[in-house]
Amino acid sequence: MTAKEILTKLVSYDVLSTQNNLELVNWIGNYINSLGVEVTYIYNKDKTQASLHCRIGPEVDGGVILSGHTDVVPVKGQPWNTNPFKLTEIEGKLYGRGACDMKGYLACFLSVLPVMIESKLKRPIYFAISYDEEIGCLRAPELAAHMNSYYIEQPKYAIIGEPSMLQPIVGQKGILYVKTEVNGSQGHSSRIEKEVSAIHESTRLILWLENKMKELAALTQNDKFLPPYSTLHVGKFNGGIATNVVAAKAVFEWDVRSIPEDKIEDILNDFETYCEELENEKQQLFPDFKIVITKLHPIVPGLLTSEKSSIVGFMNKVIENKKLGYVAYATEAGQFAEAGFESIICGPGSIEQAHRANEFVSVKQLDLCVKMIENIVKELSK
Ligand SMILES: [Zn+2]
Repeated sequence: MTAKEILTKLVSYDVLSTQNNLELVNWIGNYINSLGVEVTYIYNKDKTQASLHCRIGPEVDGGVILSGHTDVVPVKGQPWNTNPFKLTEIEGKLYGRGACDMKGYLACFLSVLPVMIESKLKRPIYFAISYDEEIGCLRAPELAAHMNSYYIEQPKYAIIGEPSMLQPIVGQKGILYVKTEVNGSQGHSSRIEKEVSAIHESTRLILWLENKMKELAALTQNDKFLPPYSTLHVGKFNGGIATNVVAAKAVFEWDVRSIPEDKIEDILNDFETYCEELENEKQQLFPDFKIVITKLHPIVPGLLTSEKSSIVGFMNKVIENKKLGYVAYATEAGQFAEAGFESIICGPGSIEQAHRANEFVSVKQLDLCVKMIENIVKELSK
């Protein structure tokens, strides 16, 4: 099957994060099996979702992992011009949810599988396919750890095919989503001096976050990234029931995207300390005043692969674009790096198309990506 044919199939499964992905993963697994390659599945507790990995080639050190995720973000409320789950080609562009983020990459390496099998690979290629990436890169650590224990030999590189227009990306910010619930007192708004408004206190916390960002920016910058400092941003806020009622509850969600020099744990600790101070102060007026902080997923580590590392030299041999990039979006690359593989992000399509209506990948990008993977096969057959 060609990359486009496989992509058509993959896009037709409308599997969002947290949803049952077995049909999709089994289709991929059966395709790999049908070419004579053994597949290992890693199921969740309920056996409703699975990751998979496999090896093509000999059981020796120094192989390359090609990795991507199966889940996609929702299309609800987005003004699509085509059916998002039916891959549609218009003027050299293939439209569909997940076309670039990141079923396109999966389709490319799956389409090269017959070539990998026929080639006399001297070092192996691995496929690593995860799920629930879009809600905080939840499954890559488990997948990478499973591969480390399953294979006796040690794979060397991991190429995570998030859309980068096939530019090799060696740096990525770390990320964490946090929910903060503020519990104040309820009462008539005329009595605000006797009550503790959850909304008013939330605004203090939000301003603290904004000031923290300015403070971090003043302390440390890394001009490889844009913006060159760690960012903090509140993207969701809910609270209050009426204009004249002091709000008993407010909830907001924020994210931190950190440059590798800043530790997300430290930023979170500082926030917690400020919340405790505010709690102590406001409990004098309302003893049940409480702030509850919840991490919405485990911290996703940043990526900082040295520009002198050997994976950079390897990528130079297989792609045209030699200019190294740095990005502010989160991927599973930092997690693969933490698992011990030299990691890089390099995939077809643009991040500008991801997550929006009319997401597409160009036929040209798919062709170039197939070429890159064929070059990887050639390199590993030397
Ligand atoms: Zn993605």
